[in-house]
Amino acid sequence: MTDRRVLVTGGAGFIGSHLVERLLDRGDEVLVADNFYSGMRSNVHHLMGNPAFELIRHDVTFPLYVEVDEIFHLACPASPVYYQRDPVQTTKTSVHGSINMLGLAKRTGAKILLASTSEVYGDPEVHPQREDYWGHVNPTGIRSCYDEGKRCAETLFFDYRRQHDLPIKVARIFNTYGPRMRPDDGRVVSNFIVLALRGEPITIYGDGLQTRSFCYVDDLVGGLLTLMDSDPSFTGPVNLGNTGEFTMLELAEKIVQLTGSNSPIVHKPLPEDDPTRRRPDISLARSELGWEPKTALEEGLGRTIEHFRASEDRKR
Ligand code: NAD
Ligand code: UDP
Ligand code: UDP
Repeated sequence: MTDRRVLVTGGAGFIGSHLVERLLDRGDEVLVADNFYSGMRSNVHHLMGNPAFELIRHDVTFPLYVEVDEIFHLACPASPVYYQRDPVQTTKTSVHGSINMLGLAKRTGAKILLASTSEVYGDPEVHPQREDYWGHVNPTGIRSCYDEGKRCAETLFFDYRRQHDLPIKVARIFNTYGPRMRPDDGRVVSNFIVLALRGEPITIYGDGLQTRSFCYVDDLVGGLLTLMDSDPSFTGPVNLGNTGEFTMLELAEKIVQLTGSNSPIVHKPLPEDDPTRRRPDISLARSELGWEPKTALEEGLGRTIEHFRASEDRKR
């Protein structure tokens, strides 16, 4: 046991639940605050018997009074389908939620890390994206609730540091995938795998030539832990992601091949403001944190497919 008490907001979500497991493994006491908007109790159900683990249903847009040493602030729906379902709540979660968690950090003296996103770069005009690129974001479009919410959260983190000297860390996370993504999440990796396993047509939005860089969840969580423990003078923002860049057509082909599916590929309209390409420059993470991802796409997809295959089998 360490004597660290760690709060993970959004800890019942996809990334959060993996992070919580790693924190418990290293002996921390973990408190999860989650309103189950896009997360699921089943993601942390196996941890319920652990005396070092506690789960509370709480919406971070409301104040929270607990005593902790570190805060991983992940609460926020991450998939376009979920964050666009109640866009006002998405902005509130990022802005009011960050104010409350920063207020909590200020009162307790806790170190606080923000799960920000590559979406702060919008539809980038600079490629690959470095942290000093200010981004190309539509402030009024359908993705703005998420993009601008996270941009404002970053602003709040840096203003709390400047005004109140808070120990902050800001991670800009690029597309992450792995076991425990929701099957109905709407993100590309979960959609393609579920469709391939069911033998249904794989839905490519637009021509499929848009690119993304996919990081396996275990690698990403390692990056978050290393960032939290990094030198206090290092705040970020720092990109965390995998530098492999793939078109959605390439991704679909890989998933069809790895699942042995005979699903055809169909094209559907491209959603508004869908970024054309995205790949992180991770030089800063390499030099400041000594961090880089280790898992190749095929390997990570293999593990993710196994997870979805098992949950599809359970439904039968
Ligand atoms: P997720 O939707 O699985 O997890 C988010 C969690 O936050 C869920 O458990 C949800 O119920 C909870 N939540 C949402 N609103 C809340 C509120 N108001 N109060 C309390 N809890 C709330 O998504 P994820 O992929 O695990 O993402 C986790 C974090 O990482 C998010 O902040 C997201 O923006 C960031 N991120 C994720 C990715 C990715 O590719 N997965 C990329 C960039 C950034
Ligand atoms: N807050 C919280 N938990 C705490 C301390 C503060 O949720 O332990 C919330 C509080 O409700 C406030 C917000 O954090 O609205 C910001 O706090 P801060 O001290 O920065 O601002 P102030 O209270 O002066 O408005
Ligand atoms: N996408 C797709 N088919 C799907 C789901 C998504 O072609 O069934 C595309 C989507 O238009 C985008 C890319 O895949 O270009 C990544 O989408 P996702 O929602 O996973 O992440 P984000 O756009 O937030 O990076």
